[in-house]
Amino acid sequence: MVCEHLLGLEPVPPRTTGCEECLKTGMRWVHLRLCLTCGHVGCCDSSPGKHATKHFHHTSHPVMASFEPGERWAWCYVDEVELDVPEEAAPYLRD
Ligand SMILES: [Zn+2]
Ligand SMILES: [Zn+2]
Ligand SMILES: [Zn+2]
Repeated sequence: MVCEHLLGLEPVPPRTTGCEECLKTGMRWVHLRLCLTCGHVGCCDSSPGKHATKHFHHTSHPVMASFEPGERWAWCYVDEVELDVPEEAAPYLRD
């Protein structure tokens, strides 16, 4: 099965350098995830806020990428499959 959610995706730069919701509320995060639809930065499911997954439930934006330094992988919430980072999104990830 091939994920079709990468088609037509036009990644935009991250809106924040940390989890957007955690920064507002002073919460701590473990790992960061970047929404490849709108540039929202949220925290992973090991973080108390789970804001990346919540962002998907709120917005239905299907694909996120790891926003951790040096990590290059993406995840489709709909198909629940790991994906290669699309070329267009690579420049927005952290070294
Ligand atoms: Zn998909
Ligand atoms: Zn968070
Ligand atoms: Zn989004």
